[in-house]
Amino acid sequence: MGVENVMFTVRLQESNRNYRIGKIICLGRNYTEHIQELGNEPSDDPILFIKPATSAIRQGEKVIIPAYSNDCHHEVELAVLIGGYGRRIAPESAADFIAGYGIALDMTLRDVQSELKKKGLPWEVAKGFDTSCPLSDFVPPERINDPHDLGISLYVNDEQRQAGNTSQMIRRIPEIIAYASSIFTLEKGDIILTGTPRGVSRVVSGDRLQARIEQIGALEVSVQ
Ligand code: MG
Repeated sequence: MGVENVMFTVRLQESNRNYRIGKIICLGRNYTEHIQELGNEPSDDPILFIKPATSAIRQGEKVIIPAYSNDCHHEVELAVLIGGYGRRIAPESAADFIAGYGIALDMTLRDVQSELKKKGLPWEVAKGFDTSCPLSDFVPPERINDPHDLGISLYVNDEQRQAGNTSQMIRRIPEIIAYASSIFTLEKGDIILTGTPRGVSRVVSGDRLQARIEQIGALEVSVQ
């Protein structure tokens, strides 16, 4: 039966506090060059989807590609940890709700997602499976000079695949928090993923992934 009632948590450095993960709200199509590499159209409204807390894994753990996919991609993303309850948050107040910044991987079954997109169906089966959301420790916002000016990159077996800067985000964090909280009430422990830069690619069994974001650090996982 496995272990029941496992708490899915992330750690905020320095305070040494653990946050029980709530919902993981993800933004799609937030970097122009990534939109182009997948042949997608930019959208007027932000594209949001949710990964369940049970999709989270930590540093050193393994991504398990479900048997129904043969094309699992990495998407390195800046993650925002929410520190308190809020709804319809104004962009000017968004900073008050940020408890920390971290590194996330939005692991995506691209073959499954493409089929779902064609049929106009929701993406969760391609995006929210167990182990689809590796997360680093989070660092307090005071440690980050400017979250919209951070180098962001992803290496597979020490070869660089993704490289960008959070300055390339189409929608910035205050706007994302305002929009997300106009639909979903935010709670302490919720996490927002802010989209991925260009360079997404396939991973296979045995690959080692290292995601890096300047001023935050690195997150390493491997593929089972
Ligand atoms: Mg993504």
